Amino acid sequence: MTDPIETFDLLGIGFGPSNLALAIALQEGAAPLKSLFLEAKPRFAWHPGMLLDTADMQVSFVKDLVTLRNPSSPFTFLSYLHAKGRIERFVNRKTFFPSRHEFNDYFTWVAAQLPEACAYDQRVTAIRPVIGAERRVEALEVVSTTAAGATTTRRTRDLVLAVGGQPNIPPVFVPFGQDQCVLHSSAYVTDCKPRLAAGRAPMRIAVVGGGQSGAEIFWDLVNDPSRPLVDFLIRGQALKPSDDSPFVNEIFDSAFTSEIFNRSAVDRAGFLADYANTNYAVVDGDLIEQIYGLFYEQEVTGDPRHRLLRSSRVEAVQARDKGVSLTLHHRGETLEAQYDLVILATGYTRRVEDTILSDLAPWLLSQEAERDYQLPTVEGFRPRLFLQGLCEATHGLSDTLLSVLPLRAEEIATSLRAVQPSRARVLTAAE
Ligand SMILES: Cc1cc2nc3c(=O)[nH]c(=O)nc-3n(C[C@H](O)[C@H](O)[C@H](O)COP(=O)(O)OP(=O)(O)OC[C@H]3O[C@@H](n4cnc5c(N)ncnc54)[C@H](O)[C@@H]3O)c2cc1C
Repeated sequence: MTDPIETFDLLGIGFGPSNLALAIALQEGAAPLKSLFLEAKPRFAWHPGMLLDTADMQVSFVKDLVTLRNPSSPFTFLSYLHAKGRIERFVNRKTFFPSRHEFNDYFTWVAAQLPEACAYDQRVTAIRPVIGAERRVEALEVVSTTAAGATTTRRTRDLVLAVGGQPNIPPVFVPFGQDQCVLHSSAYVTDCKPRLAAGRAPMRIAVVGGGQSGAEIFWDLVNDPSRPLVDFLIRGQALKPSDDSPFVNEIFDSAFTSEIFNRSAVDRAGFLADYANTNYAVVDGDLIEQIYGLFYEQEVTGDPRHRLLRSSRVEAVQARDKGVSLTLHHRGETLEAQYDLVILATGYTRRVEDTILSDLAPWLLSQEAERDYQLPTVEGFRPRLFLQGLCEATHGLSDTLLSVLPLRAEEIATSLRAVQPSRARVLTAAE
């Protein structure tokens, strides 16, 4: 006999901050839905590969998972501080910007209070339409697999996808995707730090990319006790500061989502380009000062241990016995440089067509969501597909960040409840 397939009103794919905020909004709402979030990782962790000891949040703690929607929720950052007995000492620090470690601990604390909300070690590997009478798609089957290879199929009426970004690997590095000597920044703490600790001789490392992650990794490496020699390769002439000034910050206000959505596609694209320096290829001002100070001190001491290679482009990559060699176009000249390790701080891509939703491509009318975060689908396709974090082009720069999470979660939760929840049933596979 085949195992019964459990049916849900909602399955969520991914359990990062976006779907965690939604899980809280669903729990705090009136009509409970039968929901489950499926997360690939074995336990909750927020960008574990970038949990650096010196990194701080780039958004105020007030923009936690709930405060903008419900400041009296037990899941606010202040409730977390209170529970941990640190609220007064946090106030004494006079900052709106906790460390990344502390915010990860806050997220983990919230997730631990919702043990039924998420099934961990469940990487979603396929989504299949359940086809009924007149070729209508009545529901979806979601297939997930554990690290050990065990597969589960569940059925759902609606789906919310919040899987974050995919590491962006520049074409020249693509053949080295699985190479031990080329890593993406998302694996820095988990894969690079243990190798630094285990290495006998100082490693020679290139950090590629002059945005916040590249700068943070560079700074972490130059302060690492293994004393690696680090080249910081940036495309531009200078590290540029991120703009977080108050008038500009208003583009991350929740009211701005509709304002940007209601513009034409051309207007939106122009707007995103104009304000890209709030989030992309820019670095926190304090960190720029620290890095500048380091290079200045190198001049004072005459020890040019680390290099900032400005206006640099990687033209070719070759595997060597140990490590890789990069051919660099640097200020009009071609340079060859050998490294034990290259770290690509080259950002992320977020395209619906690269996600698991590509399984449903024949039923999608567009890859762009409507204002309510729902993807338009063909007639006769009944399940609703909501996106979190994949709508920057239409919903603005806050979409990939933490800025509007509680209110976006509320909007999606309201839409989910707008349909009388089907009584969750357990169907047999044959049904
Ligand atoms: C290093 C770093 C620092 C950042 N700092 C800030 C900041 O200070 N302020 C800010 O506003 N934003 C920041 N961001 C932006 C970041 O995108 C958001 O903070 C937040 O992580 C978005 O949450 P999310 O849930 O949409 O995506 P994610 O946090 O990326 O979570 C997606 C989850 O989906 C899971 N998943 C993916 N595919 C599958 C699958 N097939 N099956 C099951 N699970 C899957 C992943 O394992 C992951 O846990 C930062 C980003 C990075 C990389």
